Formats: sequence, structure tokens, C-alpha cells
Amino acid sequence: MLNTNTNTNSGFDDLGLHPVILNSLKKSAYTEPTPVQRQAIPAALAGGDLLVSSHTGSGKTAAFMLPSLNRLTVESPVKGNGPRILVLTPTRELALQVDKASFSYGHKLKRLRIACLVGGMPYPVQLKALQGPVDVVVATPGRLMDHMERGRIDFRRLEVLILDEADRMLDMGFIDDIEAIVAKTPVSRQTLLFSATLDGVVGAMAKKITREPRRVQIAATAERRAHIEERFMFSDNMTHKNKLLDALLRDTDIQQALVFTATKRSADDLSGLLREQGFSAQALHGDMNQGQRNRTLKGLRDGRTRVLVATDVAARGIDVAGISHVINFDAPRQAEDYVHRIGRTGRAGRTGFAVTLINPGERGLLRSIERFTGQRARIDAIAGLEPTVSEPRRPHPARRGARPGGHARMGAGGGGTTANAAQPFRGFKPGGFSNAGKSLRGSPKRAGHDTRASR
Ligand code: AMP
Repeated sequence: MLNTNTNTNSGFDDLGLHPVILNSLKKSAYTEPTPVQRQAIPAALAGGDLLVSSHTGSGKTAAFMLPSLNRLTVESPVKGNGPRILVLTPTRELALQVDKASFSYGHKLKRLRIACLVGGMPYPVQLKALQGPVDVVVATPGRLMDHMERGRIDFRRLEVLILDEADRMLDMGFIDDIEAIVAKTPVSRQTLLFSATLDGVVGAMAKKITREPRRVQIAATAERRAHIEERFMFSDNMTHKNKLLDALLRDTDIQQALVFTATKRSADDLSGLLREQGFSAQALHGDMNQGQRNRTLKGLRDGRTRVLVATDVAARGIDVAGISHVINFDAPRQAEDYVHRIGRTGRAGRTGFAVTLINPGERGLLRSIERFTGQRARIDAIAGLEPTVSEPRRPHPARRGARPGGHARMGAGGGGTTANAAQPFRGFKPGGFSNAGKSLRGSPKRAGHDTRASR
């Protein structure tokens, strides 16, 4: 998808964006809008509210930021210093990413002042940014409320309110903060709500805060499936699981891997264990202060860290092109998180690989992932490390009431050739783990590293 020819953005020319924005975009080397951009940009430029269901990695940041920045090509009719665009995100990492992307998408604007107000960061820089005029505020709800309660934000000029990953913000308990923030913004605002799902509580909130919104639905799975090879592997116990991870990580095709654990403690334990094994591994979780988190992410971006062991919250919003593999060491508790996790690989048109390890007690999780995605899981095994217990035959998720709507609107059928029972490892192509078992046998033997049993 990425193209190094920076002379043209022809695919974006007919979306209605101002030449200054198109000019800014030339530096990005995007040549064609992604599906969500193609639909959402003209709709947002028309001025109405939007409810967009799109998955992570789909190019959603540009989909909401380009039409919003487009407004800055005209002076605000309202006097004041407050932001004209407000973006709310669930995590600091995502906010920092939106902040960075916004600078890039609007760098040809005469003046672009962005304040990033996120928790865990020192106040002085944020206070300084709020002292003068600001065009865009990118914030996490808690810290924004903090500034609002101290009377530091003036929303009189606000034109656009964007909720990025709204489902996750609600999952994280930000509903009251969001409602309080929305109540302080002008009713004349445009609201753009982006979320993996538009069902349930998100739908209810969307109803409250938008007016006659247009819905933009992107076929999440079809797009995702094209870029990410997904596999599931059964593990007998923690020792077996550790061996599988070791084998997977020794695959020479891995550029960088993101390994998910269920708890902060296990992220620390596992990264320590991997370092002992000779991997350049680091942990990333919510107990780390922002400075540590930034340094860890920098290490990943610079390529110094090859394996990042992270919890769900910390990994939200990570966009590092080098992540070739996502390994769910602990299967996600919620099927929705599965989609977010694997979306950390296969970014910007690259091919990614995702492997989920399933413990004997976790077969229910596998079922719920299948129901959620409407896809039958592809079960695999590594030669020499096959599980002792095989998987019983099970019906296709589409025939057991897969939700054909909402985020799981991924449509059944497309599961491809899948195995019901654990199969000898057939090998990932292209660039899969086919060497994994072999390399494990060639590597130093690991002595029962079952440090995670205590989690
Ligand atoms: P996002 O979903 O906004 O986090 O974007 C995912 C990745 O896709 C980021 O690395 C973007 O820079 C990249 N991206 C966004 N739009 C395009 C596009 N039109 N062409 C190529 N890459 C893009």
C-alpha cells in the first residue's frame, strides 16, 4: 500500500480535501485512500455526524483527522484560544500517535497548534500548551477532565468532537467523563465516533451524543484477513506453552513480535524469562510510568527490542510496522480484544502473523473468538511439540449462531481450509513458522521455566 513516489496523491484528489491538506499528505506517501478513508472523508467534509465501525490499522486516524484539519484552512468565526478540534482516545499511546499523525497530516497548514493532554505525563508542558491559542486537543478523558475542572479549557470555538476507539473508552470505564466532556461542548459541534463495534452501550451512547448520524461500516474481517495469517495452537500446560513460545520466537522470519499476557505481573515475569533465554525482550504494561513506556516503545520502534511482552491496555494503539508477529501467550478474555491484538501486526499493507495459544481450560475462549469473527479457527501445531490432547470436532461457527451483525458482522464463510483436530504443523506461508520446531531442537534446552504458574 505504501508508495515511495511522493509526487502525487491522486487517489485522494477527488475526496473534496483542501489543496493545503492534499499537499501535507504528499509527505506521507499515501497514494490511495483506504476503504474507511474513502467513505468517511467526504461524509465528514459534508459536516454531518458520523458513526464509523472500523478496525484498528484501517487508516481511521486519517479518516477523521483529514476532514477535521480541513476546517483549519478557514479562520474560526469565534474569538478565543480554545481548541476547534477535540480528539478523545482511550490510552496515552493512542493519543500520542494521533498527535503525531495530526502534525504530519496538517504540516502545510499556516499554523497548527496541537496540545496532547494525557495522564502520566508532566503537567508543565500541557499547561504551557494551553496558555496560548490551540487548534487541536488530543486527550485521554481523565486528564482532560482534570484540566477542565481547573477552568483551563474553553470549548467555545469547538467545531468537531472525535471519539476514537469509543468502545474501548467505555470498556475502560470512561463513560461518565465522556458524558461530562460532551456536555461542555457546543451543541453545534460535529461528532465523529469511531469504534470497533457500534452495538450495545456504544450504540446507546452514540444515540445520545450524535444527531442524525451517517453510518459507515467497513467490512472488518475481509480487510483484516487479507493481511494477517491467523493460527491457534493448543498447549497442555505452562511448561508446554513456554516451549511453544520459545519455538515460535526462534523462527527466523520474525522481525519483531508482540506477545500478549493476561496480567502485568506475567508480562514482567515472561519478559525477564525471555531475556534470560537470550531474546531482546521488554515488558509494557499499565504499572509503568509514562517515561518508561515511552522508552520501551522507542526501543521497539528503533528495532533494539525484538520481543515486546504486553498487556491489552498498554498495547492499545501501538503502530510499529516491524511487528511481524502477534503471539497471544494468554488468550484474550474477550473475543473483541482478539481483533484488536492481532491488528498490531499486518499494518500499512504488510503481511502479519498471529498465533494464539490455548490452554486446556480455554476452549470456551476459542469458541467465542470463532463466534465473534464468524471464522473457524485454524488449528496448528509445531512438529515435535504437538499437544497430547486433541481437539474434538466442532461445527462451523456460522452454524452455531455466529452473530452476523455488529463488529462480528464479519460474515461467516471465508474460514478457508481449517482443521478440526490438532494437525502436524503445516507451516505458515509466506514467512511462517515452519522452522520453529527445528530451531527449538537446535537451541539450548530450557529447564522447566514455569515461573508464570503463580499469575
Ligand atoms: P491507523 O488505522 O490510523 O492507525 O493507520 C494504520 C497505519 O496505516 C498507519 O501506519 C498509517 O500511517 C497507515 N495508513 C493510513 N492511511 C494510509 C493510506 N491511505 N495509505 C497507506 N498507509 C496508510
